[in-house]
Amino acid sequence: MLCELKPRERAGIINPVFTCQPAGAQFASIGIKDCIGIVHGGQGCVMFVRLIFSQHFKESFELASSSVHEEGAVFGAVRRVEEAVDVLLMRYPDVKVVPIISTCCTEVIGDDIDGVVSKLNRGLLQEKYAGREVHLVAIHTPSFVGSMVSGYDVATRDFIAHFAQKTEPNGKLNLFTGWVNPGDVKALKHLLAEMQIDATVLFEIESFDSPLMPHGNFVSHGGTTIADMQGTANALGTLALNRYECAKAARHLETEFGIPTIIGPTPIGIRNTDTFLQNLKKLTGKPIPESLVRERGVAIDAITDVTHMFLAEKKVAIYGNPDLVIGLAEACIDMEMKPVLLLLGDDNAFYGDDPRIKALQANIDFEMEIVTNADLWELEKRIKEGKIELDLILGHSKGRFTSIEYNIPMLRVGFPTYDRAGLYRHPVVGYAGALWLAEAMANTLFADMEYKKDREWILNMW
Ligand code: SF4
Repeated sequence: MLCELKPRERAGIINPVFTCQPAGAQFASIGIKDCIGIVHGGQGCVMFVRLIFSQHFKESFELASSSVHEEGAVFGAVRRVEEAVDVLLMRYPDVKVVPIISTCCTEVIGDDIDGVVSKLNRGLLQEKYAGREVHLVAIHTPSFVGSMVSGYDVATRDFIAHFAQKTEPNGKLNLFTGWVNPGDVKALKHLLAEMQIDATVLFEIESFDSPLMPHGNFVSHGGTTIADMQGTANALGTLALNRYECAKAARHLETEFGIPTIIGPTPIGIRNTDTFLQNLKKLTGKPIPESLVRERGVAIDAITDVTHMFLAEKKVAIYGNPDLVIGLAEACIDMEMKPVLLLLGDDNAFYGDDPRIKALQANIDFEMEIVTNADLWELEKRIKEGKIELDLILGHSKGRFTSIEYNIPMLRVGFPTYDRAGLYRHPVVGYAGALWLAEAMANTLFADMEYKKDREWILNMW
């Protein structure tokens, strides 16, 4: 078989692709309005995650910690959660949603966060905060399984399971975006608006590209409200763009409330965006307007300009969140490129069942490795040992040192991308994303041609 799906063989991780499960739950929680999550663990479980969010979005986010110390780690620390909830509610009178996010330490010692939520609901909330709307949601994200990707998936399901309420049909579409950037949300909303679809965009983070206003600084908050989450049970359909980020929430709505559901494909590239629009049409009955046909044409024209001369045959390594990596690989193949190495940073046992991976295995005509539970050393090792020759790397900023060390051009894409300005503003999804991706890859290669004096004269004549 030309395309092999295999786990990393070496024990131990050198330069991980992902961070841990609680990070995903924290990302989901900052997508909710009037929500501050309490991470039940050591302070570092919040501090380093907040740091990555802030580095990536260049914004500030509010997340709290129960700040477990030695005594709690030995004798149990649920008391810290009780104190943390009380302090948080006192300090922030507008907060309505408080997820209690567990970590490796508090899962190992067996702290009962579901029990403490029940206790607080019966006690503190009724006694001290009577009349105030407060929702405590227990989210289990031990870091010794999964990754930030599965943490996001689990948390979004738990929020939806907590809030979704069947009442009257609302005629809206549920759109789970998965772990995306503000630019992606904007591009998706544009496609929905062109099709005149009324949608609830869930765990909506467009406002993470926050303005600096005359009255002072602005703390970024997500746009998803409690009413949005309650209404998901009354929608005409659910579209989850990512198989590994939000499919659990979508499946919950399908199972519990019979909401018609389509999961994927991630709308990266022309082909997947076409399918996305067809899925929108299938769920809502709305036609695809001429304006989007034209937008598609503009993107294809731009892609054609750079594909044959510059992108074709280029060998690429891609790492990051699995839906992003697979979507990018599909888009690269459509642009005649050769994604020879895909690194998926966790050990999800279901990657082998992914129809997109099966399609890659059935159809590609060049050698490709897909490594699960991968770290960035899997990339560097292959380069160092001369096992692959790469023209381009696609991935987040954590792989920048490999690019620098081995002089391989790299386009930053995914999360986090902190060493380039404003990338969170550019979409990779939709026709706008397909166009940006093709041109950004081409421009990365152009800069490399000039820097290495490698046929850079072609650019004079192109
Ligand atoms: S691995 Fe454990 S201790 Fe480290 S940040 Fe994740 S949850 Fe916290």
